[in-house]
Amino acid sequence: MMRATACFVGGWLLLGAAGPARGDQLDQLGRIAGAVKTAKDLRELHVTDEEEQKLGAAVSERIRTRYGVVQDAAVHRYVALVGGALAQASTRPALPWTFIVLDTDGVNAFAAPGGFVHITRGTLALIQDEAELAGVLGHEIVHVTEKHTIRSIQKSKSVQMGASETLSSSFGLLERAVTATYDNIVEKGFGRGEENESDEKGIELANRIGYAPAGLGGFLTRLKDRNKGSQEKRGLFASHPEMDARLDNIKKEIAAKKMASTATLADRYRKFITYTPTPITEIATVAAGSAGLTGGEAKAEPKEEAPKKKSRFGISRMLPTGGGEKQQAQVTGSGSARGVDPEKDARGGGNPNPVPVKVAAADIAAFKQEGGLK
Ligand SMILES: [Zn+2]
Repeated sequence: MMRATACFVGGWLLLGAAGPARGDQLDQLGRIAGAVKTAKDLRELHVTDEEEQKLGAAVSERIRTRYGVVQDAAVHRYVALVGGALAQASTRPALPWTFIVLDTDGVNAFAAPGGFVHITRGTLALIQDEAELAGVLGHEIVHVTEKHTIRSIQKSKSVQMGASETLSSSFGLLERAVTATYDNIVEKGFGRGEENESDEKGIELANRIGYAPAGLGGFLTRLKDRNKGSQEKRGLFASHPEMDARLDNIKKEIAAKKMASTATLADRYRKFITYTPTPITEIATVAAGSAGLTGGEAKAEPKEEAPKKKSRFGISRMLPTGGGEKQQAQVTGSGSARGVDPEKDARGGGNPNPVPVKVAAADIAAFKQEGGLK
């Protein structure tokens, strides 16, 4: 904690930081291209923190464009305080962590490179206390600190193909890197190993600063219960052992590591978050690929890149309606390229503008003290 806190001295978190102008951004992205010149470089790709943040800013812009941003500074500030407290205690406290609330009923959360953490309004509606929020944000923060988000570039076939091109085509290469990263984060999700690592280290992070570590499991259990009805209605498989295995793993970790923090802070949560959840059957969706910029570009990714055996994991991804292996197989069988996932394909709001909120180290300290956190 001392180490983490020290990194915040004189610093601040800028919530929903305004992204650079388009021209500047492209110029900055061009510099990332310098790190991705050859196939050899790509296999041994080293991305600096600065490059990672620029890539993350471009990916975040696409996510904001796709889902819109809740234009509410009080909500953003609250999420930034919880997220900032966790980020301070993480292994990468010095990143300019940014927490963005997306304007959609779908239940989801996305971590982009460089410390951009997105959580949907639908997720906040389903969450019931601050420990659950800390569990979800902790999970997403670990995707960033463990660089799961960066590894997606290295795995991308389209980026690898680009890597054999000359630098004169580096702009196209960079555009592909952004698209590949977005596609991995939003469309496909991370692999099971990465999800388990995020669960385990995320709850540890929450527990370390005083939150009840059962928060993440409590939220996932409620999400699972919420989706039960639609599961039967859709005639999809009746149970989803992967989710149960995930919940078991979380429980075992809490016991094995003797995590014993107790703060849940339901009252404080309700003071700031008053959304009500939308049943999954009532979530308005958009057709995959028609969601504007991002949907169309995601479609351009080479098909072979889709992992064949890997389920799409994530906050909502291990659930029956979240498009697991079986659902994908069924959809393919019916001739559709991509099934409609009410969470991922949920309609978004029309305003992609960030909501800038400054949260200083002193604000986080006061927030933690008020909540009896460590
Ligand atoms: Zn995840």
